[in-house]
Amino acid sequence: MKIAFIGLGRMGSGMARNLLRAGHGVTVYNRSREKADALAADGASVAASPGEACEGVEVAVTMLADDRAVEEVVLGESGMAAGLAKDAIHISSSTISTALARRLASGHAAIGQGFVSAPVFGRPDAAAEAKLVVVAAGPEELISRCRPLFDAIGRQTCVAGSEPWQANAVKLCGNFMIAAMLEAFGESFAVLRKASVEPRLFVDVMTALFKSPVYANYGRNIAEERFEPAGFALKLGLKDIRLTLENADQSAAPMPLASVIRDQLISAMALGQGELDWSSVSRISARNAGL
Ligand code: NAP
Repeated sequence: MKIAFIGLGRMGSGMARNLLRAGHGVTVYNRSREKADALAADGASVAASPGEACEGVEVAVTMLADDRAVEEVVLGESGMAAGLAKDAIHISSSTISTALARRLASGHAAIGQGFVSAPVFGRPDAAAEAKLVVVAAGPEELISRCRPLFDAIGRQTCVAGSEPWQANAVKLCGNFMIAAMLEAFGESFAVLRKASVEPRLFVDVMTALFKSPVYANYGRNIAEERFEPAGFALKLGLKDIRLTLENADQSAAPMPLASVIRDQLISAMALGQGELDWSSVSRISARNAGL
């Protein structure tokens, strides 16, 4: 398949490489050109704008930081919407708001283009190893056309519904669950350090109970205070919890725990932790405990 891939950050680079490995023809674009040039060695063609990357492709994938970046890349000058052919599909894999997913679906439809939301779970190492969990939503026929690409980047694809924004709602609630775990680890470690219990012991106990690599990996990182280099930057984690609360507000479904977590992340930002991994939110509980 001929694919455009736009956004070659921590996640996008590995995803684009796996599409190349699966035999697809990939044209890449990244705002900072050097990250795109790095993919040329793997066989990618490099475009000078999002619009140019989209010329003649069947599918264009975006993996960008946030709503603003996606809007600029899709609707901006030499943007995707102008470059993409009628009947081509935009797959949005960034973690964006449900509101923007709705706007993208209707905007692409108005000019005869397809739109599928396919946010992913998994950190950059999972992206590099094609082990992401893909949550896709959109019209059934479009999902079927995109399936070979999901198989190339992930280990499992779950279909959330026929409206693209439904996948974004799942992704936001999923990140809220992970953030709640990080906060719970932070609070527990603060108490256990005062009880002179070895943090790694607690990780072993929790891993025995929950049997999840998410608990094991994040627990270990927090126990060892390993927050650099960031797999997922705390400033992006705060973006996601804000989007979670925005979606909850629009759905008239309160999320009091998410509000607490947002405030903890704001404290971490204020203390200069924006570029550290979001698991460093645990430092706030330690600090509040005088540690
Ligand atoms: P990242 O390393 O910070 O990469 C962000 C990408 O967006 C870069 O390619 C960056 O270009 C581009 N970008 C940012 N602002 C832009 C703008 N205004 N115009 C054009 N391009 C712009 O982020 P990431 O960790 O790969 O995350 C990407 C998305 O995946 C985010 O929505 C994130 O929430 C989500 N996600 C992340 C993880 C994770 O563990 N890291 C897991 C699942 C989902 P430059 O290179 O020029 O800066």
